[in-house]
Amino acid sequence: MIIDCHTHLEFYPDKKFGAQEIVASMKKAKIKKALVYAGEMFNCANEKLLCESSLFKGILFPIASISPLSQNRSTPEQIEEWLAGKKIYGLKFYTGYEHFYPSDKILRPYLNLLEKYNQPAIFHSGDTWNQAKDAKLKYAHPLIFDDLASDLPNLKIVIAHFGNPWAKDAAEVSYKNKNVYIDCSGLVYDSVKPQDKILLKRLFSDYLLFGGSTDKLLFGTDWNLCDQKGYVGYINRLQLTKKEKENIFYKTAQSLFNLYD
Ligand SMILES: [Zn+2]
Repeated sequence: MIIDCHTHLEFYPDKKFGAQEIVASMKKAKIKKALVYAGEMFNCANEKLLCESSLFKGILFPIASISPLSQNRSTPEQIEEWLAGKKIYGLKFYTGYEHFYPSDKILRPYLNLLEKYNQPAIFHSGDTWNQAKDAKLKYAHPLIFDDLASDLPNLKIVIAHFGNPWAKDAAEVSYKNKNVYIDCSGLVYDSVKPQDKILLKRLFSDYLLFGGSTDKLLFGTDWNLCDQKGYVGYINRLQLTKKEKENIFYKTAQSLFNLYD
């Protein structure tokens, strides 16, 4: 079984990457379930995400997004209703793109709800897409998640993208804090090319060498940025044991996002 822990639905006037499109891609890649993220930068509001993913219950699992500096952000009351009703399975934050630190007090009501309902906070980390307006790396370095992980030890945190290129730092934050997980999404654009294989191999080996564990590593692609089938193929070819691959591909995701039912 394969669960893709990191995908985005995107809606623009001239094109869309919605529920139908991701499910078609998942079929080709033999991916059974996917966590699908909302995000202002992808023109996908939380309500739109919920509406789209409701077409594929048991296959698509929504992750709402909070842009704390935006007037349009969902209220904590709304988020609690969705968490309590199992309409959402976590929250995604775009710190580097939207300029806030994860320990900012404005996030606390939302993070406390995630603790209460035992669902994770997922943070974009590392490289920020250089065409996005005003993205700032100081809000995206993996080390900034250590404060939050220490202050809220019962909050489950995912540092996305290995914190690329700072996989060593991401590994250390995860090694030190039992509540910090890492995902390996978003390291490749389109298909996996020869130069991507060098980067992926290096990030995986840095992560594992500096204390990162395959027990807390999640498979994710960052679809529609990357071809899911190619990404699955690449991970399958890594020199990992069967047990390690099972953890990465689905076991850790099942327990982290409470996907058993
Ligand atoms: Zn992403």
